[in-house]
Amino acid sequence: MQGAVTFDAQAYNFTRVVNEVTDYAIVLLDPTGHIQSWNAGAARITGYQSNEIIGAHFRGMYTSEDLEKEVPITALEEARQGGKSRHEGWHIRKDGSRFWGNIEITALHDDHRNVIGFVKICRDYTDRKLAEDELQSHAQKLEKLEDKFRSLLESAPDAMVIVDETGVIQLVNAQTESMFGYSREDLIGKTVELLMPDRYEKAHYGHRYHFFTSPKVRQMGEGFELFGKKSSGQEFPVEISLSPLETDEGRLVSAAIRDITNRKKAEEKFRNLLEAAPDAIIIVNDKGVIQLVNVQTEKLFGYHRSEIIGKRIEMLMPERYQGSHQDHRTNYFGRPKVRQMGSGLELFGKRKNGEEFPLEISLSPLETEEGMLVSSAIRDISEKKRLENEIREANINLEKKVQQRTMELEVKNKELAQFAYVASHDLQEPLRTTSSFVELLREKCYGRLDGEADQFIDYIIQASDRMRTLINDLLEYSRIGRKTSLQIVNCQTILSEVMADLDNSIKEQEAVITSTELPVINGYATELKQLFQNLISNSVKFRNKNSPPQIHIRAHKKDEYWEFAVQDNGIGIEAKHKDRIFVIFQRLHTRTEYEGSGIGLSHCKKIVELHGGRIWVESRPGEGSTFYFTIHAF
Ligand code: ADP
Repeated sequence: MQGAVTFDAQAYNFTRVVNEVTDYAIVLLDPTGHIQSWNAGAARITGYQSNEIIGAHFRGMYTSEDLEKEVPITALEEARQGGKSRHEGWHIRKDGSRFWGNIEITALHDDHRNVIGFVKICRDYTDRKLAEDELQSHAQKLEKLEDKFRSLLESAPDAMVIVDETGVIQLVNAQTESMFGYSREDLIGKTVELLMPDRYEKAHYGHRYHFFTSPKVRQMGEGFELFGKKSSGQEFPVEISLSPLETDEGRLVSAAIRDITNRKKAEEKFRNLLEAAPDAIIIVNDKGVIQLVNVQTEKLFGYHRSEIIGKRIEMLMPERYQGSHQDHRTNYFGRPKVRQMGSGLELFGKRKNGEEFPLEISLSPLETEEGMLVSSAIRDISEKKRLENEIREANINLEKKVQQRTMELEVKNKELAQFAYVASHDLQEPLRTTSSFVELLREKCYGRLDGEADQFIDYIIQASDRMRTLINDLLEYSRIGRKTSLQIVNCQTILSEVMADLDNSIKEQEAVITSTELPVINGYATELKQLFQNLISNSVKFRNKNSPPQIHIRAHKKDEYWEFAVQDNGIGIEAKHKDRIFVIFQRLHTRTEYEGSGIGLSHCKKIVELHGGRIWVESRPGEGSTFYFTIHAF
């Protein structure tokens, strides 16, 4: 064996190494926990030098909480029993400051497995601990924030996105996920620009910065169209309102985002409708400020829409109406309903060039999100007015002409009536003379002259009789409507009287006469009786040879007239004679076929016209006739 110097390399190295280790505290403890050795690491971590600490109990550096929980004693016991124990916790340095110690205690044994002491190794994990704590508190804060806003956010109808000052999304609600097609996890931690089309991204940085320098609740991008971008890249129109949120964690901003695709579509439809309307349409708010106009408005008033939108509606009317219009407007907004403006008044508009024109306006209230608006449909009625004037003038002229014509006719009628009266009256006299002398001639000479002369006398007498009838008829005709006055006449009564008068011939001909309920009218009784009598006796007279006369009289009201009808089953009338039969002395048959002088229907016509009505016939030969006439109802 060489050399007397024995160098216990292991013992030497162990001591040196242990003592010089500065990263860890390595401390030897006796079985009761008193410090036996103290290395450089222990001094560095705790601030105690070995001479100050050796012999002291190792629990001296524990906090009172840990001591209360008997952490050091428990750790020793565990190591004693299990060979090793580990724990972590705050420890106190010599200067009173704290460090986070990660401690491992290992029991040392002799050959008989008796515990002869402990090695305690302590690592200073203060930095790691602080970082962990900070992380945890941040997480807790976020959790708190989330709790605070979660229910609020989820109940909002809009997509809510909360971002911090750097634009990083902190929170979103379920509506955001469905609106943009991202999951919450996709969004949180990303910048908000993810949710907008790329072309806005750059500008948005600036806007974002601007908002945080003067944060207040407001609409985003007032006057601009805003768009969102879905995860699919699809864009859609949005409306965004921003509000600042002051929180413990700093200033945030919450953006309420509304998808306005449907509203835009509805607006678009509304706008198309507006433009398609034939009238000028102007929409104003309750302050009378023009909100919307259509192309017809531009044409009518001569302004471009940019010149009138945002201005007061009064600019489109003549100055003299402007003052009172403001009151009308306030009144209208108080009781809004669809109606014509200024009914009964003449309304005027004023074009850009100052020209005035008459117009018609109908107003309708419009309930909108921005409050009550009023839409006015405006129509230029210049042309209508012009036509109305023309018609009015034409009417006046016509009226004058009619009056003149009527006067002329009245004069002529009177003259004619006078003529007929005078003629028939004056004709009677010579006729009477002729008749009386012929009568005389017959008394004196009948049978004394030859047979032919007797026959001539008969002819003269017949002709004179006939002439008398004609003259009487004519006289009667010219008397119709003279010296009579209007009175209330029950047509039912008149019919009964006529039927009584015609009783003989009715019976003779076995005529059946029926009627509906006839009205009470204002008329000339005698003349009306004659009217019914003529029509009914004609129906009896012009009967069909094969069947007895059936006559039906009815009346029904048509507007302001009563329309009467006298229907028979007689021989009928050819269409070509329908007008002729109403002319005086016009007949369709010879006297041998049917009695009569051809004056009955001209009487009827005169009587009906006296009552302001008219008379006509509908008939077919062999199928009977229906005579219609109208009489003014009360
Ligand atoms: P009159 O009865 O004296 O001949 P009217 O003036 O009453 O004269 O009638 C004129 C003509 O109209 C008659 O001759 C007859 O040919 C025709 N007429 C009138 N009423 C009827 C009737 N109900 N059916 C067929 N023909 C008629």
